[in-house]
Amino acid sequence: MNRDFFKYQAQTTPFASGFEVEKAEGSYIYGKDGKAYLDFVAGVSANTLGHSHPKIVKAITEQAGKYLHVMVYGEYAQEKPVALCQLLAKATPEPLEVTYLVNSGAEAIDGALKLAKRYTGREEIISMVDSYHGNTHGALSVSGNETHKREFRPLLPMVNFIRFNDEAELQKITEKTACVIAETIQGAAGFLVPDFSYYKKLKSRCEEVGALLILDEIQPGFGRTGKLFSFEHFGIVPDILVMGKGMGGGVPVGAFMSSKKIMETLSHSPKLGHITTFGGNPLIAAASFATLTEVLESGLMEQTQKKEQLFRELLVHPKIKNINGMGLMLAVNLENPDYTLSVAKKCMEKGLIVFWQLYRNEYMRLSPPLTISEGEIRKGCQIILECLNEINE
Ligand code: PLP
Repeated sequence: MNRDFFKYQAQTTPFASGFEVEKAEGSYIYGKDGKAYLDFVAGVSANTLGHSHPKIVKAITEQAGKYLHVMVYGEYAQEKPVALCQLLAKATPEPLEVTYLVNSGAEAIDGALKLAKRYTGREEIISMVDSYHGNTHGALSVSGNETHKREFRPLLPMVNFIRFNDEAELQKITEKTACVIAETIQGAAGFLVPDFSYYKKLKSRCEEVGALLILDEIQPGFGRTGKLFSFEHFGIVPDILVMGKGMGGGVPVGAFMSSKKIMETLSHSPKLGHITTFGGNPLIAAASFATLTEVLESGLMEQTQKKEQLFRELLVHPKIKNINGMGLMLAVNLENPDYTLSVAKKCMEKGLIVFWQLYRNEYMRLSPPLTISEGEIRKGCQIILECLNEINE
């Protein structure tokens, strides 16, 4: 155990495992204990292409050899951030066109909320019960879990909540609403996929009253559900798209994207409507551009459905109640949070990393890299089944 980790590196959980990492490559993390661990969590959906993908490492190394940080956001035209934003514009449907690069998912959420308020001139934000959008004051304000918010009030005013995937609630969106924000697939709540018709109705209600629709794709983003972004499954396009995590392939990043018309409102009255020193950092942009290029060109996205199917075929056990989710973001319902924790610990002992969902600890999280092989899926599922057989509730 690394005592200095617990002594000097601030923790906000009493339960950190303190697992010590030697190196990581592909679908494996290698511990300082000399063991290899198959990773079904991928840095909580961040390592889209597995660990230390050679193309990402090459892109970072090449950029590091040229220059690192040179100026705050938006002043200089730097090759990699420009290329990333251009490729995002090409790869997403209209009217999504311009991208503002930031440092994390939560910052991207804050930027998106500011943009919606600024564009509409309205104050009310509507979010979803059980949503998770991050931990800055702004992102926490629109997150729909009281336990995580209570002690940090006052938060943003004028934030109201509706139930996710409940059409009857859509009437609460009115002419006073600046924006509705939703995770396209609710993550912390257990990878909840809404009914197919839900987003069309939500979007049309937003259009009716002039509210903007913000979709948080921080977890599905970059291909995890078989499309670059999961809203593409639902036949709509958000007014503001938020991404993070998996777009970096292992480096810290976030972004919000919209039409030029909407985004321009952050550039006047006041100008500098959102600024950040390191947003659009060339090293990070190089990694993200390499990730996006590989996701678009490798055929990995197209394989996710088959891989999901394999997980579903293999993970059949009396202790598994159901499996939520889509593509390679799956939540396995073991009904009892303590049991799920015991299974996760046992899996780790046997060389498999799994986790649990933030609000619904009874759900075991499976979000492996898109590069996971069929053999690795079989191997990991075998370990899970062994653990379920060995541990009694
Ligand atoms: N939104 C969703 C759906 C997330 O899953 C997360 C992170 O888990 C965030 C926002 C916040 O992103 P970050 O942790 O990069 O601030």
